[in-house]
Order: sequence, then structure tokens, then C-alpha cells
Amino acid sequence: MYGLSEEDLALQARARGLADELIPFEEQAERDGGELPADVTAAHAKRARELGLHSANMPAELGGGGCTSLQQVLVQEQMGRVTNAVATPDQIERYVRPAIAGEREECYAITEEGAGSDVDAIEATAARDKDHYLLNGVKWHVTSFNAADFAFFQARLRGGELDGEHAMFLVDLPSPGVRVVRTPAYTHTISHHHPIVAFENVRVPAENLVGAEGDGMAFAYEWFRFERLMVGARCLGAAGRLTEEMAAFAATRRAGGTPISEHGLVAGMLADSLTELFAARALAYETARGIDRGTDVKVSHAQCSMAKLYCSEMAGRVADRAVQVFGGRGYMRENVAERFYRELRVERIWEGTSEIQRMIIARQMTKRGPAALA
Ligand SMILES: Cc1cc2nc3c(=O)[nH]c(=O)nc-3n(C[C@H](O)[C@H](O)[C@H](O)COP(=O)(O)OP(=O)(O)OC[C@H]3O[C@@H](n4cnc5c(N)ncnc54)[C@H](O)[C@@H]3O)c2cc1C
Repeated sequence: MYGLSEEDLALQARARGLADELIPFEEQAERDGGELPADVTAAHAKRARELGLHSANMPAELGGGGCTSLQQVLVQEQMGRVTNAVATPDQIERYVRPAIAGEREECYAITEEGAGSDVDAIEATAARDKDHYLLNGVKWHVTSFNAADFAFFQARLRGGELDGEHAMFLVDLPSPGVRVVRTPAYTHTISHHHPIVAFENVRVPAENLVGAEGDGMAFAYEWFRFERLMVGARCLGAAGRLTEEMAAFAATRRAGGTPISEHGLVAGMLADSLTELFAARALAYETARGIDRGTDVKVSHAQCSMAKLYCSEMAGRVADRAVQVFGGRGYMRENVAERFYRELRVERIWEGTSEIQRMIIARQMTKRGPAALA
């Protein structure tokens, strides 16, 4: 199905095998604030390397997996089957990227209290001071700051010809002037925190400018395209796992003398979930194939938005139905549906909210015509 090659299927099977090995650790992670013992995490990392699932998105010549976009979607989809970020791509990357990027781990400091969807509204500043830049700003929701040893920091240039333009910088962690303001609790239970971080007169060498001055937004767009498709892929995995779990439960749980799957209202929830998953998977795979074929970048941008929008909203609906199918069990934290119900909520918010995805799609649709996008 889906026209996958032998190579694609082999990779998919390896990723599924890894996810199946990680699933038994979900409940322990849920109980322990998302943390697993270091030796368990190290064993998972080793396993990911053994299975050749590390650095899937990095070029083979740099030691990465050299995977196509479709293959990356297939891997991320399987990782999405696991709750509590026991198998987030971040973690896989962590096992991975170190090998090709010199044992380092990053976080992204872009969002601010007054600038989320509207990235252009950021107020953080970068002022050139001879062979250094001086960075200032307070960043929100800095995912993985507690595990990272460098940050991408987006700011507006102060002074010079490109005054007011965006630029991206690498900041080593820890660095003088970088401090956590506070670490709020979030809906999901994972070991990576999302603190508010202040950057106060942080001096970085001019070489830490990523690309050129004024390039900041271009990097953000490129990252969004990739990550939005991967969000979509992980939502496919989550919905896939949920449909399997709810179908198995509905087939065996009896009420009124019959399996609940034979009650029409329950059957409807199962059928709608699988139908939507099928549609979402076809959309995400086709978007990935388009990237691999070299589709126009603006078209891909809109299609990645469609994949993120539809897959995340589909997974949210599937999780909601799964909780319902499991009844009271679906409300227990030891139940996979309950965990996904909470965890999937953020997929409609980060990497651009559903509303922002709709704006992007509608803009490209009116500019290029619907036929160019779908
Ligand atoms: C768990 C988590 C982790 C995150 N990790 C990171 C990270 O590592 N690095 C980072 O930089 N950021 C991160 N973020 C920030 C995330 O990208 C933003 O929360 C998101 O982009 C939304 O911005 P906002 O929260 O400021 O909401 P706002 O932009 O204030 O939006 C509020 C509401 O208004 C709507 N809205 C806004 N603009 C429009 C519009 N033009 N049209 C229609 N509706 C609109 C939104 O859709 C939303 O419903 C993270 C967020 C969360 C929750």
C-alpha cells in the first residue's frame, strides 16, 4: 500500500520495531515526570544507532541517514506511536546528531511573550560590537533548554545597514548572561522542559551569526517546512496506535451482551478514525514525495501546512474518540488514549497554530489557484 519501495518498507519496519521496544516504558515515564533512568535512555540511544535510525534527515556523506523526505516521514510516523516523548525525534536526533555535529544538542529561542504566531514582532536585539554581537531578549517556551548545550537565538539587528532585520545566532550554553526566569509546567509529561529564558548582554563572536545578517526569517521558514511535515508524520503514528488500541479494546470489551464494536455509535467512532487516518496519511506521504521530486518551494510550504493542519486536527479527533471508546479507562493516566489526548493538543499550537496554517494555505490558494496545491 502507498507505493512504498522495498527500502522504504525495511526502514519503516526497523522504526516500528524500535517504537515497539519503547512503548513498554511509557507508563514509567508518565509516573516519573517524563524521566527514565539514564541507563535505559542510553540503551534506547544505542538501539536507535544499531537500527540505523539516527540522523535520518542528515546527508549520508556527513554520516547521516541520507533519507528521502518520504523516508523521514515514515520514521517519524513510527516515533509518533510512543507517548511521553520516550521516542521523540528530538531524542532520536540526540543519539544521532552528536555523531555528525560534534556531540552537541540544540534548542530554539525564537518565541517571546509578545511574539508567537507573529514572529516578526520579536523584540530581542543583536548589536554588533567589533568582532562580537551583544544579544538581549527574553524568550518563551524554549523546548529542551534543560538538555541543550547551545541555542539558536533569533533577534533584530540594532544599528548598521540592516537595522531592524532579523538574524539568527548560535549561543553556547551555559553562557554568561543566559538564565532561566522560570520553568512552567505544561500539559504533557516529558523530560524536556520549556522554560522562559533571559538573554542579558550575552556576547557571542561574530562567527556565531548563522548565515548572513537579515537571514533570520529565511531559516525559520525552512525549519517550519521540515518540522510541520514531521509534526504531521508523528500525528499519523499517534492516530495509528490509537486506532489499533481502540479497535482491539472495542472488539473484546462487552456491554449489553455484545462487543462494544457492534454498537453502531461505537462502530462509527472506529470507522471515522480510520477513514481520517487513511486520508491524512495519503496527504502527508504525497507532500513528502513532492519535496523529493523537487516541487516548487512555495507549493511545498503550503502543502506542509496542509499536512500539519489536517494530521494534527485528525489526531486530536481520534484521541478524543479513543478516550470515549475506552470509557472510564480512557480517563486513567495509565491508558494510552488519556496520554495522547493531552499530548496531542500541542500539535495544533506549536510550529504554527492551526489558524496560521489555514492563513498560509488560503494565501497560496488565492495566489496560485487551488490546482497548484492539490
Ligand atoms: C510546548 C511548547 C513548546 C514550544 N517550543 C518552542 C521552542 O522550542 N522555541 C520557540 O521559539 N517557541 C516554542 N513554542 C512557541 C510556539 O511556537 C507558540 O506558542 C505558537 O507559535 C503560538 O504563539 P503564541 O503562543 O504566542 O500564541 P499567539 O500568537 O498569541 O496566538 C494566540 C491565538 O491567536 C491566534 N492567532 C494569532 N495570529 C493569528 C492570525 N494572524 N490569524 C488568525 N489567528 C491568529 C492563534 O492561532 C491562537 O489561537 C512552544 C510552545 C509550546 C506550547
